[in-house]
Amino acid sequence: MTKQKESGWHLDNSYSRLPNTFFTDISPNPVESPELIIFNDALAVSLGLEAQVLQSEEGIAVFAGNEVPEDAIPLAQAYAGHQFGHFTMLGDGRAMLIGEQLTPSGERFDIQLKGSGRTPYSRAGDGRAALGPMLREYIISEAMHALGIPTSRSLAVVTTGESIIRETELPGAILTRVASSHLRFGTFQYAAKWGSDEELRALADYAIERHFPDIEVDDNRYLALLQAVIQRQATLVAQWQLVGFIHGVMNTDNMTISGETIDYGPCAFMDTYDPATVFSSIDVQSRYAYGNQPNIVGWNLARFAESLISLLHTDYSAGAKLAQDALSEFPEHYYANWLAGMRAKLGIFNEEQQDAALIDSLLRMMEQQRVDYTNTFRALTFDTLEKSVLFGTPEFIEWQELWQARLDRQQESKELAHQLMRNSNPAVIPRNHRVEAALETAVEHGDYSVMEKLLNVLSHPYAHSPEQAEYATTMPESDEPYHTYCGT
Ligand code: AMP
Ligand code: MG
Repeated sequence: MTKQKESGWHLDNSYSRLPNTFFTDISPNPVESPELIIFNDALAVSLGLEAQVLQSEEGIAVFAGNEVPEDAIPLAQAYAGHQFGHFTMLGDGRAMLIGEQLTPSGERFDIQLKGSGRTPYSRAGDGRAALGPMLREYIISEAMHALGIPTSRSLAVVTTGESIIRETELPGAILTRVASSHLRFGTFQYAAKWGSDEELRALADYAIERHFPDIEVDDNRYLALLQAVIQRQATLVAQWQLVGFIHGVMNTDNMTISGETIDYGPCAFMDTYDPATVFSSIDVQSRYAYGNQPNIVGWNLARFAESLISLLHTDYSAGAKLAQDALSEFPEHYYANWLAGMRAKLGIFNEEQQDAALIDSLLRMMEQQRVDYTNTFRALTFDTLEKSVLFGTPEFIEWQELWQARLDRQQESKELAHQLMRNSNPAVIPRNHRVEAALETAVEHGDYSVMEKLLNVLSHPYAHSPEQAEYATTMPESDEPYHTYCGT
Protein backbone atom coordinates (compact mmCIF):
# COMPACT_ATOMS: atom_id res chain seq x y z
CA MET A 1 0.00 0.00 0.00
CA THR A 2 1.36 3.41 -0.96
CA LYS A 3 1.33 6.10 1.69
CA GLN A 4 -0.78 8.97 0.50
CA LYS A 5 1.07 11.68 2.37
CA GLU A 6 4.33 11.24 0.52
CA SER A 7 2.90 10.66 -2.92
CA GLY A 8 0.06 13.16 -2.78
CA TRP A 9 -2.67 10.63 -3.54
CA HIS A 10 -5.89 11.88 -2.04
CA LEU A 11 -8.52 9.53 -3.34
CA ASP A 12 -12.24 9.40 -2.93
CA ASN A 13 -14.45 6.72 -4.45
CA SER A 14 -17.83 8.26 -5.13
CA TYR A 15 -18.48 5.93 -8.06
CA SER A 16 -18.20 2.93 -5.76
CA ARG A 17 -21.10 4.34 -3.75
CA LEU A 18 -23.42 3.86 -6.72
CA PRO A 19 -25.57 0.70 -6.72
CA ASN A 20 -23.26 -2.26 -7.25
CA THR A 21 -24.73 -3.17 -10.61
CA PHE A 22 -22.52 -0.41 -12.03
CA PHE A 23 -19.18 -2.02 -11.21
CA THR A 24 -17.27 -4.99 -9.92
CA ASP A 25 -14.63 -4.67 -7.25
CA ILE A 26 -11.37 -6.09 -8.46
CA SER A 27 -7.88 -6.61 -7.17
CA PRO A 28 -4.83 -5.47 -9.04
CA ASN A 29 -3.23 -7.92 -11.46
CA PRO A 30 0.48 -7.55 -10.71
CA VAL A 31 2.94 -7.34 -13.58
CA GLU A 32 6.48 -8.63 -13.75
CA SER A 33 8.84 -5.70 -13.94
CA PRO A 34 7.31 -2.31 -14.45
CA GLU A 35 9.36 0.48 -15.93
CA LEU A 36 8.31 4.09 -16.25
CA ILE A 37 8.42 5.21 -19.87
CA ILE A 38 6.85 8.62 -19.69
CA PHE A 39 5.49 10.78 -16.93
CA ASN A 40 3.49 14.00 -17.09
CA ASP A 41 5.05 16.31 -14.54
CA ALA A 42 2.80 19.29 -15.14
CA LEU A 43 -0.35 17.20 -14.88
CA ALA A 44 0.92 15.53 -11.71
CA VAL A 45 1.50 18.91 -10.10
CA SER A 46 -1.96 20.17 -11.06
CA LEU A 47 -3.44 17.05 -9.48
CA GLY A 48 -1.60 17.73 -6.23
CA LEU A 49 0.71 14.75 -6.72
CA GLU A 50 4.37 14.60 -5.75
CA ALA A 51 6.09 14.17 -9.08
CA GLN A 52 9.33 12.85 -7.62
CA VAL A 53 7.77 10.29 -5.34
CA LEU A 54 5.59 9.01 -8.13
CA GLN A 55 8.62 8.35 -10.29
CA SER A 56 10.25 6.25 -7.58
CA GLU A 57 9.82 2.49 -7.44
CA GLU A 58 6.94 2.84 -5.03
CA GLY A 59 5.17 5.38 -7.24
CA ILE A 60 5.65 3.31 -10.36
CA ALA A 61 4.15 0.29 -8.62
CA VAL A 62 0.85 2.19 -8.55
CA PHE A 63 0.97 2.93 -12.28
CA ALA A 64 1.65 -0.74 -12.90
CA GLY A 65 -1.27 -1.89 -10.77
CA ASN A 66 1.12 -3.75 -8.48
CA GLU A 67 0.11 -1.61 -5.53
CA VAL A 68 -2.77 0.69 -4.82
CA PRO A 69 -2.70 3.95 -2.90
CA GLU A 70 -4.07 3.83 0.62
CA ASP A 71 -7.56 5.13 -0.18
CA ALA A 72 -8.04 3.31 -3.47
CA ILE A 73 -11.02 1.05 -4.09
CA PRO A 74 -10.13 -0.53 -7.43
CA LEU A 75 -13.08 -1.43 -9.59
CA ALA A 76 -14.08 -2.16 -13.17
CA GLN A 77 -17.01 -0.18 -14.50
CA ALA A 78 -19.98 -1.81 -16.21
CA TYR A 79 -21.34 -0.27 -19.39
CA ALA A 80 -22.90 -1.15 -22.69
CA GLY A 81 -22.74 0.56 -26.03
CA HIS A 82 -23.54 0.65 -29.70
CA GLN A 83 -20.43 -0.47 -31.52
CA PHE A 84 -20.65 0.48 -35.19
CA GLY A 85 -24.40 0.60 -34.74
CA HIS A 86 -24.83 -2.69 -32.84
CA PHE A 87 -25.84 -2.74 -29.20
CA THR A 88 -23.78 -4.89 -26.88
CA MET A 89 -22.68 -5.35 -23.27
CA LEU A 90 -19.17 -4.05 -22.65
CA GLY A 91 -17.52 -2.74 -19.48
CA ASP A 92 -13.93 -2.13 -18.46
CA GLY A 93 -12.36 -5.20 -20.01
CA ARG A 94 -8.81 -3.96 -19.67
CA ALA A 95 -9.03 -1.05 -17.29
CA MET A 96 -9.59 -0.36 -13.65
CA LEU A 97 -10.59 2.75 -11.82
CA ILE A 98 -8.48 3.14 -8.72
CA GLY A 99 -10.35 6.14 -7.41
CA GLU A 100 -10.95 9.84 -7.84
CA GLN A 101 -8.12 12.21 -7.05
CA LEU A 102 -9.26 15.28 -5.13
CA THR A 103 -7.03 18.12 -6.25
CA PRO A 104 -5.79 21.06 -4.17
CA SER A 105 -8.23 23.28 -6.07
CA GLY A 106 -11.12 21.05 -5.11
CA GLU A 107 -11.62 19.25 -8.41
CA ARG A 108 -12.22 15.53 -8.79
CA PHE A 109 -10.58 13.36 -11.46
CA ASP A 110 -10.88 9.66 -12.19
CA ILE A 111 -7.58 7.84 -12.09
CA GLN A 112 -7.82 4.87 -14.39
CA LEU A 113 -5.25 2.27 -15.35
CA LYS A 114 -5.71 1.13 -18.93
CA GLY A 115 -4.14 -2.21 -19.81
CA SER A 116 -4.22 -3.41 -16.22
CA GLY A 117 -5.38 -6.97 -16.81
CA ARG A 118 -8.49 -9.09 -17.01
CA THR A 119 -11.76 -8.14 -15.34
CA PRO A 120 -15.20 -9.76 -15.33
CA TYR A 121 -15.93 -7.67 -18.45
CA SER A 122 -12.95 -8.87 -20.48
CA ARG A 123 -14.88 -11.38 -22.61
CA ALA A 124 -12.25 -13.08 -24.78
CA GLY A 125 -9.66 -10.33 -24.31
CA ASP A 126 -6.48 -10.56 -22.26
CA GLY A 127 -7.08 -7.28 -20.45
CA ARG A 128 -3.76 -5.95 -21.59
CA ALA A 129 -2.54 -3.18 -23.87
CA ALA A 130 0.53 -2.73 -26.02
CA LEU A 131 3.11 0.00 -25.63
CA GLY A 132 2.54 1.62 -29.04
CA PRO A 133 -1.20 2.31 -28.63
CA MET A 134 -0.74 3.55 -25.06
CA LEU A 135 1.95 6.02 -26.15
CA ARG A 136 -0.27 7.01 -29.04
CA GLU A 137 -3.08 7.83 -26.59
CA TYR A 138 -0.60 9.78 -24.47
CA ILE A 139 0.61 11.86 -27.41
CA ILE A 140 -2.77 12.59 -28.98
CA SER A 141 -4.67 13.26 -25.76
CA GLU A 142 -2.00 15.68 -24.56
CA ALA A 143 -1.98 17.37 -27.98
CA MET A 144 -5.75 17.74 -27.80
CA HIS A 145 -5.49 19.27 -24.35
CA ALA A 146 -2.91 21.76 -25.60
CA LEU A 147 -5.24 22.64 -28.48
CA GLY A 148 -7.81 23.61 -25.86
CA ILE A 149 -10.15 20.70 -26.57
CA PRO A 150 -11.83 18.93 -23.63
CA THR A 151 -10.19 15.55 -23.22
CA SER A 152 -9.05 12.86 -20.85
CA ARG A 153 -5.38 13.33 -19.98
CA SER A 154 -2.40 11.02 -19.69
CA LEU A 155 -0.37 10.91 -16.51
CA ALA A 156 2.04 8.07 -17.15
CA VAL A 157 2.86 5.07 -19.26
CA VAL A 158 4.71 2.11 -17.81
CA THR A 159 5.84 -1.03 -19.54
CA THR A 160 4.97 -4.23 -17.73
CA GLY A 161 8.00 -6.35 -18.58
CA GLU A 162 5.56 -8.83 -20.08
CA SER A 163 4.80 -9.50 -23.72
CA ILE A 164 1.33 -9.57 -25.12
CA ILE A 165 0.26 -11.49 -28.16
CA ARG A 166 -1.48 -9.70 -30.99
CA GLU A 167 -0.53 -10.41 -34.60
CA THR A 168 2.99 -10.45 -33.24
CA GLU A 169 4.47 -10.35 -29.76
CA LEU A 170 4.43 -6.80 -28.38
CA PRO A 171 5.66 -5.12 -25.21
CA GLY A 172 2.81 -4.75 -22.71
CA ALA A 173 2.10 -1.35 -21.17
CA ILE A 174 -0.31 0.46 -18.89
CA LEU A 175 -1.52 4.02 -19.33
CA THR A 176 -2.68 6.04 -16.34
CA ARG A 177 -5.61 8.01 -17.64
CA VAL A 178 -7.08 11.04 -15.91
CA ALA A 179 -10.62 12.13 -16.75
CA SER A 180 -13.28 14.25 -15.15
CA SER A 181 -15.22 10.98 -15.11
CA HIS A 182 -15.70 7.85 -17.18
CA LEU A 183 -19.48 8.15 -17.30
CA ARG A 184 -20.35 7.20 -20.85
CA PHE A 185 -23.50 7.26 -22.94
CA GLY A 186 -23.08 3.50 -22.67
CA THR A 187 -23.23 3.63 -18.87
CA PHE A 188 -26.77 5.00 -19.22
CA GLN A 189 -27.63 2.50 -21.92
CA TYR A 190 -26.51 -0.28 -19.58
CA ALA A 191 -28.66 1.08 -16.74
CA ALA A 192 -31.70 1.52 -18.98
CA LYS A 193 -31.39 -1.97 -20.39
CA TRP A 194 -30.45 -4.01 -17.33
CA GLY A 195 -30.92 -1.79 -14.30
CA SER A 196 -33.99 -0.90 -12.31
CA ASP A 197 -35.64 2.52 -12.46
CA GLU A 198 -33.98 3.42 -9.16
CA GLU A 199 -30.58 2.43 -10.47
CA LEU A 200 -31.00 4.54 -13.59
CA ARG A 201 -32.15 7.46 -11.47
CA ALA A 202 -29.20 7.02 -9.11
CA LEU A 203 -26.85 7.17 -12.09
CA ALA A 204 -28.51 10.28 -13.50
CA ASP A 205 -28.42 12.00 -10.11
CA TYR A 206 -24.76 11.10 -9.79
CA ALA A 207 -23.97 12.49 -13.26
CA ILE A 208 -25.77 15.73 -12.42
CA GLU A 209 -23.97 16.13 -9.14
CA ARG A 210 -20.61 15.43 -10.70
CA HIS A 211 -20.85 17.36 -13.95
CA PHE A 212 -23.80 19.71 -13.83
CA PRO A 213 -24.18 20.78 -10.20
CA ASP A 214 -26.01 23.92 -11.34
CA ILE A 215 -29.01 21.86 -12.41
CA GLU A 216 -31.46 22.41 -9.65
CA VAL A 217 -34.18 20.20 -8.35
CA ASP A 218 -36.57 21.98 -10.67
CA ASP A 219 -39.44 20.50 -12.58
CA ASN A 220 -37.42 18.26 -14.89
CA ARG A 221 -33.79 17.89 -13.93
CA TYR A 222 -33.27 14.87 -16.17
CA LEU A 223 -34.35 16.85 -19.19
CA ALA A 224 -31.89 19.52 -18.09
CA LEU A 225 -29.21 16.79 -17.94
CA LEU A 226 -30.01 15.71 -21.49
CA GLN A 227 -29.92 19.31 -22.72
CA ALA A 228 -26.62 19.96 -20.98
CA VAL A 229 -25.00 16.86 -22.49
CA ILE A 230 -26.30 17.86 -25.94
CA GLN A 231 -24.64 21.26 -25.50
CA ARG A 232 -21.33 19.82 -24.35
CA GLN A 233 -21.18 17.32 -27.16
CA ALA A 234 -22.13 19.96 -29.73
CA THR A 235 -19.23 22.11 -28.54
CA LEU A 236 -16.86 19.16 -28.50
CA VAL A 237 -17.51 17.84 -31.97
CA ALA A 238 -17.35 21.37 -33.40
CA GLN A 239 -13.87 21.64 -31.90
CA TRP A 240 -12.86 18.32 -33.43
CA GLN A 241 -14.03 19.48 -36.85
CA LEU A 242 -12.22 22.79 -36.54
CA VAL A 243 -8.82 21.15 -35.98
CA GLY A 244 -9.45 18.15 -38.25
CA PHE A 245 -9.47 15.52 -35.50
CA ILE A 246 -10.94 12.17 -36.48
CA HIS A 247 -11.85 10.04 -33.48
CA GLY A 248 -12.23 6.86 -35.51
CA VAL A 249 -14.38 4.82 -33.15
CA MET A 250 -17.30 6.94 -32.00
CA ASN A 251 -19.23 4.09 -30.45
CA THR A 252 -21.63 5.15 -27.71
CA ASP A 253 -19.35 3.64 -25.07
CA ASN A 254 -16.66 6.08 -26.19
CA MET A 255 -18.79 9.22 -25.68
CA THR A 256 -18.71 10.92 -22.31
CA ILE A 257 -21.38 12.72 -20.32
CA SER A 258 -18.72 15.30 -19.35
CA GLY A 259 -18.14 16.24 -22.99
CA GLU A 260 -14.50 15.21 -22.91
CA THR A 261 -12.84 13.32 -25.74
CA ILE A 262 -12.12 9.80 -24.58
CA ASP A 263 -10.74 6.48 -25.85
CA TYR A 264 -8.02 7.29 -28.27
CA GLY A 265 -7.76 4.22 -30.45
CA PRO A 266 -7.48 4.58 -34.20
CA CYS A 267 -7.81 8.36 -34.05
CA ALA A 268 -5.73 10.62 -36.30
CA PHE A 269 -5.68 14.13 -37.66
CA MET A 270 -6.83 14.82 -41.18
CA ASP A 271 -4.11 16.17 -43.45
CA THR A 272 -5.61 16.71 -46.93
CA TYR A 273 -8.99 18.35 -46.55
CA ASP A 274 -11.60 15.78 -47.47
CA PRO A 275 -14.80 15.14 -45.52
CA ALA A 276 -14.63 11.47 -46.56
CA THR A 277 -11.35 10.92 -44.71
CA VAL A 278 -11.20 7.68 -42.71
CA PHE A 279 -7.98 6.29 -41.23
CA SER A 280 -9.24 3.44 -39.07
CA SER A 281 -8.63 0.04 -40.61
CA ILE A 282 -11.79 -1.36 -39.03
CA ASP A 283 -14.12 1.40 -40.20
CA VAL A 284 -14.78 -0.27 -43.51
CA GLN A 285 -18.09 1.48 -44.12
CA SER A 286 -16.70 4.93 -43.31
CA ARG A 287 -19.27 5.34 -40.56
CA TYR A 288 -16.88 7.54 -38.59
CA ALA A 289 -15.47 9.58 -41.49
CA TYR A 290 -14.44 13.15 -40.70
CA GLY A 291 -17.48 14.71 -42.36
CA ASN A 292 -19.83 12.28 -40.62
CA GLN A 293 -18.73 13.00 -37.07
CA PRO A 294 -21.36 15.64 -36.22
CA ASN A 295 -24.16 13.38 -37.50
CA ILE A 296 -22.79 10.49 -35.50
CA VAL A 297 -22.75 12.57 -32.33
CA GLY A 298 -26.42 13.33 -33.06
CA TRP A 299 -27.12 9.62 -33.50
CA ASN A 300 -25.25 8.77 -30.30
CA LEU A 301 -27.12 11.47 -28.40
CA ALA A 302 -30.37 9.90 -29.56
CA ARG A 303 -29.27 6.60 -27.98
CA PHE A 304 -28.39 8.48 -24.78
CA ALA A 305 -31.74 10.27 -24.82
CA GLU A 306 -33.60 6.97 -25.28
CA SER A 307 -31.96 5.64 -22.17
CA LEU A 308 -33.34 8.60 -20.19
CA ILE A 309 -36.94 8.49 -21.43
CA SER A 310 -38.37 6.76 -18.39
CA LEU A 311 -36.91 9.53 -16.21
CA LEU A 312 -38.21 12.34 -18.37
CA HIS A 313 -41.88 11.59 -17.88
CA THR A 314 -44.07 8.96 -16.28
CA ASP A 315 -45.81 8.58 -19.62
CA TYR A 316 -43.51 6.98 -22.22
CA SER A 317 -44.71 8.92 -25.24
CA ALA A 318 -44.58 12.21 -23.39
CA GLY A 319 -41.02 11.37 -22.33
CA ALA A 320 -40.11 10.45 -25.91
CA LYS A 321 -41.50 13.74 -27.14
CA LEU A 322 -39.39 15.69 -24.63
CA ALA A 323 -36.31 13.76 -25.73
CA GLN A 324 -37.11 14.38 -29.40
CA ASP A 325 -37.51 18.11 -28.85
CA ALA A 326 -34.23 18.34 -26.98
CA LEU A 327 -32.42 16.35 -29.68
CA SER A 328 -33.83 18.51 -32.44
CA GLU A 329 -31.73 21.37 -31.10
CA PHE A 330 -28.43 19.56 -31.51
CA PRO A 331 -27.76 20.44 -35.19
CA GLU A 332 -28.25 24.12 -34.48
CA HIS A 333 -25.96 24.07 -31.43
CA TYR A 334 -23.33 22.23 -33.38
CA TYR A 335 -23.52 24.54 -36.36
CA ALA A 336 -23.40 27.70 -34.25
CA ASN A 337 -20.25 26.45 -32.51
CA TRP A 338 -18.63 25.40 -35.73
CA LEU A 339 -19.47 28.64 -37.53
CA ALA A 340 -18.14 30.74 -34.65
CA GLY A 341 -14.91 28.73 -34.76
CA MET A 342 -14.60 29.06 -38.53
CA ARG A 343 -15.12 32.81 -38.33
CA ALA A 344 -12.27 32.99 -35.83
CA LYS A 345 -10.05 30.89 -38.12
CA LEU A 346 -10.61 33.55 -40.77
CA GLY A 347 -10.10 36.49 -38.41
CA ILE A 348 -13.75 37.48 -38.39
CA PHE A 349 -15.12 38.99 -35.17
CA ASN A 350 -18.70 39.90 -35.90
CA GLU A 351 -21.48 38.07 -37.71
CA GLU A 352 -22.70 38.61 -41.22
CA GLN A 353 -25.23 36.52 -43.05
CA GLN A 354 -22.85 35.76 -45.94
CA ASP A 355 -20.11 34.34 -43.70
CA ALA A 356 -21.38 30.80 -44.10
CA ALA A 357 -21.17 31.06 -47.88
CA LEU A 358 -17.67 32.55 -47.68
CA ILE A 359 -16.50 29.66 -45.50
CA ASP A 360 -18.22 27.03 -47.62
CA SER A 361 -16.63 28.24 -50.81
CA LEU A 362 -13.17 28.15 -49.23
CA LEU A 363 -13.73 24.59 -48.04
CA ARG A 364 -15.06 23.56 -51.44
CA MET A 365 -11.91 24.87 -53.14
CA MET A 366 -9.74 23.18 -50.55
CA GLU A 367 -11.46 19.88 -51.23
CA GLN A 368 -11.15 20.26 -55.00
CA GLN A 369 -7.47 21.14 -54.84
CA ARG A 370 -6.76 18.50 -52.19
CA VAL A 371 -4.76 20.86 -50.00
CA ASP A 372 -3.63 20.36 -46.44
CA TYR A 373 -6.28 21.53 -43.96
CA THR A 374 -4.05 22.87 -41.18
CA ASN A 375 -1.45 24.41 -43.44
CA THR A 376 -4.01 26.21 -45.59
CA PHE A 377 -5.29 28.09 -42.54
CA ARG A 378 -1.72 28.74 -41.43
CA ALA A 379 -0.90 30.19 -44.82
CA LEU A 380 -3.97 32.42 -44.67
CA THR A 381 -2.90 33.56 -41.21
CA PHE A 382 0.65 34.42 -42.17
CA ASP A 383 -0.09 35.52 -45.69
CA THR A 384 2.25 32.92 -47.16
CA LEU A 385 -0.16 32.19 -49.92
CA GLU A 386 2.28 31.36 -52.67
CA LYS A 387 3.02 27.95 -51.16
CA SER A 388 -0.02 26.03 -52.32
CA VAL A 389 -1.61 25.09 -55.64
CA LEU A 390 -4.87 26.46 -54.33
CA PHE A 391 -3.68 30.01 -54.07
CA GLY A 392 -2.87 30.51 -57.75
CA THR A 393 -6.35 29.65 -58.97
CA PRO A 394 -8.62 32.44 -60.27
CA GLU A 395 -11.41 31.26 -57.97
CA PHE A 396 -9.20 31.62 -54.93
CA ILE A 397 -8.02 35.07 -55.96
CA GLU A 398 -11.66 36.11 -56.26
CA TRP A 399 -12.43 34.53 -52.88
CA GLN A 400 -9.49 36.31 -51.28
CA GLU A 401 -10.85 39.67 -52.42
CA LEU A 402 -14.21 38.88 -50.84
CA TRP A 403 -12.49 37.78 -47.65
CA GLN A 404 -10.33 40.92 -47.46
CA ALA A 405 -13.39 43.08 -48.08
CA ARG A 406 -15.12 41.19 -45.27
CA LEU A 407 -12.23 41.97 -42.91
CA ASP A 408 -12.33 45.62 -44.00
CA ARG A 409 -16.00 45.83 -43.07
CA GLN A 410 -15.41 44.98 -39.42
CA GLN A 411 -14.30 47.50 -36.82
CA GLU A 412 -11.33 45.50 -35.61
CA SER A 413 -7.97 46.20 -37.23
CA LYS A 414 -6.13 43.81 -39.53
CA GLU A 415 -3.64 43.35 -36.72
CA LEU A 416 -6.36 42.14 -34.38
CA ALA A 417 -7.76 39.87 -37.07
CA HIS A 418 -4.28 38.39 -37.50
CA GLN A 419 -4.02 37.81 -33.73
CA LEU A 420 -7.36 36.05 -33.73
CA MET A 421 -6.22 33.82 -36.58
CA ARG A 422 -2.94 33.01 -34.86
CA ASN A 423 -4.85 31.92 -31.81
CA SER A 424 -7.38 29.90 -33.79
CA ASN A 425 -5.15 28.12 -36.30
CA PRO A 426 -2.60 25.74 -34.83
CA ALA A 427 0.99 25.82 -36.05
CA VAL A 428 1.22 22.09 -35.48
CA ILE A 429 -1.00 19.09 -35.10
CA PRO A 430 0.17 15.54 -34.34
CA ARG A 431 0.82 14.66 -37.95
CA ASN A 432 0.51 11.01 -38.76
CA HIS A 433 4.06 10.49 -40.03
CA ARG A 434 5.46 12.30 -36.97
CA VAL A 435 3.41 10.22 -34.56
CA GLU A 436 4.42 7.02 -36.34
CA ALA A 437 8.11 7.99 -36.29
CA ALA A 438 7.93 8.78 -32.57
CA LEU A 439 6.21 5.48 -31.81
CA GLU A 440 8.55 3.45 -33.96
CA THR A 441 11.72 4.79 -32.34
CA ALA A 442 10.14 4.32 -28.92
CA VAL A 443 8.76 0.81 -29.38
CA GLU A 444 11.38 -0.68 -31.72
CA HIS A 445 14.49 0.97 -30.33
CA GLY A 446 13.61 2.06 -26.80
CA ASP A 447 14.55 5.61 -27.77
CA TYR A 448 12.00 8.10 -26.43
CA SER A 449 13.75 11.27 -27.51
CA VAL A 450 11.77 11.65 -30.76
CA MET A 451 8.50 11.32 -28.86
CA GLU A 452 9.60 13.77 -26.18
CA LYS A 453 10.56 16.35 -28.77
CA LEU A 454 7.25 15.87 -30.53
CA LEU A 455 5.33 16.25 -27.26
CA ASN A 456 7.22 19.42 -26.57
CA VAL A 457 6.36 20.94 -29.95
CA LEU A 458 2.72 19.91 -29.58
CA SER A 459 2.41 21.44 -26.12
CA HIS A 460 2.06 25.01 -27.48
CA PRO A 461 0.24 24.63 -30.77
CA TYR A 462 -0.54 28.32 -31.11
CA ALA A 463 3.00 29.53 -30.42
CA HIS A 464 3.97 29.55 -34.10
CA SER A 465 7.62 29.32 -33.07
CA PRO A 466 10.43 28.72 -35.58
CA GLU A 467 11.09 25.19 -34.17
CA GLN A 468 7.57 24.22 -35.08
CA ALA A 469 8.01 24.87 -38.79
CA GLU A 470 9.58 21.49 -39.54
CA TYR A 471 6.67 19.75 -37.80
CA ALA A 472 4.24 21.33 -40.22
CA THR A 473 5.51 19.46 -43.25
CA THR A 474 3.01 17.04 -44.66
CA MET A 475 3.36 13.29 -44.94
CA PRO A 476 5.66 12.23 -47.78
CA GLU A 477 3.70 10.95 -50.79
CA SER A 478 3.05 7.25 -50.53
CA ASP A 479 1.32 4.62 -52.67
CA GLU A 480 -0.28 3.17 -49.57
CA PRO A 481 -3.12 5.02 -47.86
CA TYR A 482 -2.47 5.73 -44.18
CA HIS A 483 -4.24 3.36 -41.78
CA THR A 484 -4.61 3.35 -38.03
CA TYR A 485 -5.39 0.38 -35.82
CA CYS A 486 -7.43 -0.02 -32.68
CA GLY A 487 -4.58 -1.54 -30.74
CA THR A 488 -6.84 -3.70 -28.61
P1 AMP B 1 -12.43 0.14 -27.06
O1 AMP B 1 -12.42 -0.25 -28.50
O2 AMP B 1 -11.05 0.38 -26.50
O3 AMP B 1 -13.37 1.25 -26.76
O4 AMP B 1 -12.94 -1.13 -26.28
C1 AMP B 1 -14.20 -1.72 -26.50
C2 AMP B 1 -14.46 -2.77 -25.46
O5 AMP B 1 -13.54 -3.84 -25.57
C3 AMP B 1 -14.38 -2.28 -24.04
O6 AMP B 1 -15.33 -2.97 -23.27
C4 AMP B 1 -12.98 -2.68 -23.64
O7 AMP B 1 -12.82 -2.82 -22.24
C5 AMP B 1 -12.84 -4.01 -24.33
N1 AMP B 1 -11.45 -4.37 -24.62
C6 AMP B 1 -10.61 -3.75 -25.46
N2 AMP B 1 -9.42 -4.36 -25.46
C7 AMP B 1 -9.47 -5.37 -24.58
C8 AMP B 1 -8.54 -6.36 -24.12
N3 AMP B 1 -7.31 -6.43 -24.56
N4 AMP B 1 -8.98 -7.25 -23.20
C9 AMP B 1 -10.23 -7.19 -22.74
N5 AMP B 1 -11.15 -6.29 -23.12
C10 AMP B 1 -10.78 -5.38 -24.03
MG1 MG C 1 -13.96 2.22 -25.28
